[in-house]
Amino acid sequence: MREDPPVLRFAPSPNGYLHLGHAFSALRNDRLARDLGGRLLLRMENIDLDRCKPHFEAAIIEDLKWLGLAWETPVRRQSEYFSDYAVQLENLSARGLAYPCFCSRGDISRAIGARRGWQRDPDGAPLYPGTCKHMGDAERRRRIASGQSAAVRLDMERALAEAGSLLGWREFGEHSVARDVTAEPALWGDAIIARRDVPTSYHLSVVVDDALQNVSDVVRGEDLFSATSLHRLLQVLLDLPAPNYHHHHLLRDRAGHKLSKSTKAKSIRTMRAEGMSAAQLRASIGF
Ligand code: GLU
Repeated sequence: MREDPPVLRFAPSPNGYLHLGHAFSALRNDRLARDLGGRLLLRMENIDLDRCKPHFEAAIIEDLKWLGLAWETPVRRQSEYFSDYAVQLENLSARGLAYPCFCSRGDISRAIGARRGWQRDPDGAPLYPGTCKHMGDAERRRRIASGQSAAVRLDMERALAEAGSLLGWREFGEHSVARDVTAEPALWGDAIIARRDVPTSYHLSVVVDDALQNVSDVVRGEDLFSATSLHRLLQVLLDLPAPNYHHHHLLRDRAGHKLSKSTKAKSIRTMRAEGMSAAQLRASIGF
């Protein structure tokens, strides 16, 4: 029987214009898809409806086409699939692996207080001190009925007990040399899997979508390397397959900061408006 061709995806968030770092990641996806004889998908990770806008999405598509990329359609827009994430969230909650959390950031800082050396997650946020973890069902219902909004957190201890501690993934890095990485999901503590303002999270949506879209090879920046530990845990809990991961280095500015909207990285459209050709842009980042 012939094996299905590999499936890759570029998954930007349409909350701004693409910069060189995005182009680099998209081109790496494209190159690996070609090398493997695979398919390339484009996914709009637009769960944050306040920040993600249709005009950014249109601009992303235009910029990617200008760069010479092509992908299969239809493009999956996460905002159209909140019900897919809700099913999995309910699944985790019903199994006692997730719980509602009513804390604001301020509540969390107050609960931690002046305790020194409080552990932080790989993104730098303090680990959740567990305030809402042992709240009784009646109190949870009362708060929800009174209109309090809640995030949903993974109960890390229970999740690890259920998934077992031997989690890992196949990491190919950027030179396609495979190694086995041991996942360390506990570093994330009771991570948020559905936000207060959005009925899902990046972590939950990405594992659900990668599975639904049969993604076999995830090519993305190394800033998401640590998040992969949490993704693997969610995949095991939800009985979803594990893709291969290919984390690549990030493009940085002269000061050494990774290119991002917050460091005001120049957008591809600005470079284009300044007269750069697609071939020049590609060559400037090694393609
Ligand atoms: N949407 C994420 C981003 O723009 C990428 C997620 C992923 O590739 O897993 O950073």
